[in-house]
Amino acid sequence: MSTSLMYHTQQIREFQHTSLKFKDNKVIQCIKRKNFNCDLCRSNKVRLEALRVRQIQALPYGLKKTYFEFTIHRIYCMKCKKRQIEKIPFLSHPKSRITKALERTIVELRSEMSISAIAKYFDLDWRTVKNVEKRYLKKKFKRIKLKNVRIIGIDEIFVSRKKENEKYKTVVRDLESGAVLHVGNGKGTEALKQFENRIRCVKRNFEAVAMDMSRAFIKWVSENLPKAEIVFDHFHVIKMMNDKVDKVRRRITAGLDDAHKKLLKNQRFLFLRSVEKLDPDAKLLLDNLRKTFRELGDASMLKEALRSIYRQAENDTQAEAALINWCAIARQTEVHELIQMANTIEKHMKGITAYWRTGGLSNASMEGFNNKIRWLMRQAYGYRDDEYFKWKIYDLPNLKTKKQL
Ligand SMILES: [Zn+2]
Repeated sequence: MSTSLMYHTQQIREFQHTSLKFKDNKVIQCIKRKNFNCDLCRSNKVRLEALRVRQIQALPYGLKKTYFEFTIHRIYCMKCKKRQIEKIPFLSHPKSRITKALERTIVELRSEMSISAIAKYFDLDWRTVKNVEKRYLKKKFKRIKLKNVRIIGIDEIFVSRKKENEKYKTVVRDLESGAVLHVGNGKGTEALKQFENRIRCVKRNFEAVAMDMSRAFIKWVSENLPKAEIVFDHFHVIKMMNDKVDKVRRRITAGLDDAHKKLLKNQRFLFLRSVEKLDPDAKLLLDNLRKTFRELGDASMLKEALRSIYRQAENDTQAEAALINWCAIARQTEVHELIQMANTIEKHMKGITAYWRTGGLSNASMEGFNNKIRWLMRQAYGYRDDEYFKWKIYDLPNLKTKKQL
């Protein structure tokens, strides 16, 4: 085995081949360092002390699991009189048990193979594979350029039922490029603290912030980004309306006798789904339910009316007129939840109509992104390692397909 081949196939430099051993279907290639230098002053006037023999897993030669075996030394520099442990150039960190070349291959395969498939192929622990990817993602996303960001979206996403402080993630995205700019633990302003520090020098560039109508975010934006326009985007308004419809349904169900309860049972999605997505049977059932339960019918109809404003209004003036009209109709129904929604819309009218003034913010749909996060959570390795999960969220915009990875 030539030293040159070792360099070209395994990216091992500064070492030379000495011998090969074959043991239990494994190849063990013994190597030794050519020259020793002090890490600080590069002097070669050093004294060596052999510490121990290490085996590092490398890319396989054919089907054989392959290891490099070498002695690790303590170096004493005669010039600067300092002691140091020799640094191994083909390891990404001193405790790594696999070569950089194998790490790089793992990262390349990750877009096509699952963690467990890669682990099985190289006969590695799945945690090793996951940690290699985690380090790669961390390096890739640790410094994100914020200089050209103009429009951001802030969103809190429910991710786990487990620990209290891990229930929500707050995600900030660049709505023009789709890039994830920040992933914070929890919700509210606390989750934005780190982001706040990072945007100090660039926040003047921020023109608009899309978000839901939570008081905490509104406060945060007016304190930190006073020049940015607050936009309550389409996705969050419709989501809020869906919650209201659901509240009406639950309230009505609670007051029904068993026979009527049965009629409404499991029809939750019938009321939340868009009408045009229902098949004819479901549509007929919905029409009947609407007649039987007037309040629910009103709520469901007003939800559709709200959606149609987003479809049809061409500018903020048209939208505002339609929304004022919508609020008046909502009040006439005398349904408590709908009156609440009307109050919310009136209170936040400026931010809601800003959606039209900022061109619809349609480049990177928030709903689509939240679905991607939910998809990520369903993956087996999703939530166990919170930090890994966080870096995977940063990587989501680069995700090509929805296959099981
Ligand atoms: Zn030195």
